[in-house]
Order: sequence, then C-alpha cells, then structure tokens
Amino acid sequence: MATPLTKEREELTASIRARRRQIYRRDHNGEIIRRNVETNRKRNLQDRMNSLTHYSAGEIKCSNPLGMHKEPFTDVRALTLGPVNEEETIEAKQAKKKGGSFYAWLRKKGYPEGYQVLCFNCFWIRKNWAKEGGGRRTPTTVSTW
Ligand SMILES: [Zn+2]
Repeated sequence: MATPLTKEREELTASIRARRRQIYRRDHNGEIIRRNVETNRKRNLQDRMNSLTHYSAGEIKCSNPLGMHKEPFTDVRALTLGPVNEEETIEAKQAKKKGGSFYAWLRKKGYPEGYQVLCFNCFWIRKNWAKEGGGRRTPTTVSTW
C-alpha cells in the first residue's frame, strides 16, 4: 500500500522524466527526424523487395504480360506491382489512398493473390489499355498502336 508521500514522489519522478523527454526531443529534433526518416526508408525498401520477391517466381523481373521485352527486364529501380487481370481491388485502392506504403499493406494482408511484377512501361501500357476500352484483362500481345 503506497503512502501518500510515496505516491507524490512517484508522480514527481514521472513528471521529471516527461520533462527530460521533452527537453531531449527539443534538443535532438533534427536527429530524431533523420533517424525516423532513415528507419522508414529502410522498412519501405525491405517491404518493397519482399513484395517483389514474393510475386516473382525466382528471379525478380517484369512478368512481361505484353511481350514487350525480348530480354528479361530485371532493374528493380523500375519494377512495381500491378493487378494480374482484374482492376485493383477496392481494398488495395483504399490502402493506397490512405497514403501508407502499398508494399506494407501487401505484407499485412499476407501477400494476396492477383498481383504481378511489372516494369513501369508495362504497368502504364496495361493501365491505359483498360481505360482505352481494351477490356479488363491484360492483353497478351500488342499488335496495333
Ligand atoms: Zn515490362
């Protein structure tokens, strides 16, 4: 059973700790922000690489749904994920709108099926294909343009 004095002492200790934290944050604000930015950058990169690995069968490369590449496109700087056949799920769209990392969302969802690795060329061509009335399925070849 805590005596009133002990309780008072604990409250004082807690308020001193809170004030010290405040002062530390004030004095190290730039450092804290930099550290958080760096941590987030690393986590995002890790999520991105894990997602690309998950949706690749072996080597990470564009799944080349349009037959655009003669050689496999493997530059991860220009690789992303897109839906395989259907439009993106409403859930995935909402996750993107919330501004968080799409790759983190995929991880939290246990990497749902229906995504493929695409280079940005194939991603945009495929995206516009649907808009231009080409239908919701990924075309297998692009013959006329
Ligand atoms: Zn491609």
